[in-house]
Amino acid sequence: MKILLVDDSRTIRNIQKNILAKLEHKEIDEAADGVEALVKLDEFSPDLILLDWNMPNMDGYTFLQTIRKNGVKTPVIMCTTEAEKTRVVQAIQAGANNYVVKPFSTETMAEKIEQTMKKVAAGA
Ligand SMILES: [Mg+2]
Repeated sequence: MKILLVDDSRTIRNIQKNILAKLEHKEIDEAADGVEALVKLDEFSPDLILLDWNMPNMDGYTFLQTIRKNGVKTPVIMCTTEAEKTRVVQAIQAGANNYVVKPFSTETMAEKIEQTMKKVAAGA
């Protein structure tokens, strides 16, 4: 499964990559903002996107709104901080399929991915 990591923090992307590697996910690509993510969406055709909210150039919320408006159905897991938790409802309304609160454990990430892909497969 191809996973696109979208976060302006290289450190966070590296942590996510390590977690995903433990879960045997090796087809990973990265983007540092929404603009780059739009390009990667075309080039890499991910099966899943892990999306940060706060980023320069184009934030995660705008990216999400943009791709859903364009009919892109790729599952999106919004990665929020504890302080941004109130934005979860907004993200779900904009078309996020799930969310995870940073920092997350390997177990939590595994659960969220499984949950999300099951939901999407069931058409929910
Ligand atoms: Mg950020």
